[in-house]
Amino acid sequence: MVNKIPYMTLLEARDLYRETLQTKFSNGEIDFYFKSLMTESFQREPTQLALEPESELEPLEVLFIQEAATKLLKDYPLQYITGTVHFRTLKLKVDPRVLIPRPETEELVDWIVEDFGKRTDDTKDILDMGTGSGCIAIALAKENTQFTVSALDQEQPILDLAQENALNNGVQIHFFQQDLLQLDSLKQSFDILVSNPPYVMRKEQEQMQPNVLDHEPHQALFVPDEDPLVFYRAILKFASLHLNSEGIIYFEINPLLIDELRSLIQQFDYTISERMDIFGKVRMLRLKKK
Ligand code: GLN
Repeated sequence: MVNKIPYMTLLEARDLYRETLQTKFSNGEIDFYFKSLMTESFQREPTQLALEPESELEPLEVLFIQEAATKLLKDYPLQYITGTVHFRTLKLKVDPRVLIPRPETEELVDWIVEDFGKRTDDTKDILDMGTGSGCIAIALAKENTQFTVSALDQEQPILDLAQENALNNGVQIHFFQQDLLQLDSLKQSFDILVSNPPYVMRKEQEQMQPNVLDHEPHQALFVPDEDPLVFYRAILKFASLHLNSEGIIYFEINPLLIDELRSLIQQFDYTISERMDIFGKVRMLRLKKK
């Protein structure tokens, strides 16, 4: 027997969405989810609901949004359902292999872009350390042809996704598999190092939302409470040997660790600048070689 999938108008589907999800989300959130599914998953115009509320959804679309509602009720992130995230001017594919790029990370890229503008006088070799979806590396390569961008991550399936994103956005990045804690084997030197490494302490877990905690990759998020700066230390050690003169490091950081970071960095030879994110927290550091 073939299950009959109901035909539904856009407005009926939206109302059903509000009804199904109202135990957990506000109407504003539900409408946002609904619109995102329509535009990201079905390539419908965002204005269609307002302009053509009676237009019909395909049975497959009805099925998809029903399944999506079940997932949203279980805190599955919307971006993993649509498989899409917008990062600055880029459209990137995301799935549970990688962290969903955050607005704070866009701000880190903004900082680098501001510092280098659209200059094309000399090339800069950049390494993105722990690239995940490739968001930082791809945004930088897209922004400035002066940048020659490499990016590493620890597992091939992650790099495959990042590579797909680079191709879809028309840029060339040299992706390679490398453990951030075993950088000794890496021989090349760079002008700019950038990293948003894992920095969330286990003890912060209680305050985290279930959409992050239950569904995003822990290896991209968490560090041990007893050594939360482990990745920063590894990168700084690497930089002592592999950052060119006048080189710069850009870090996304955990605002809770700013004091510890300052003392760690003092053991090396850098001028530090700090920057706050849109939420007013010290979220970014720039280290210039003295
Ligand atoms: N900013 C991310 C979050 O708040 C964490 C990213 C990271 O650990 N590098 O979930």
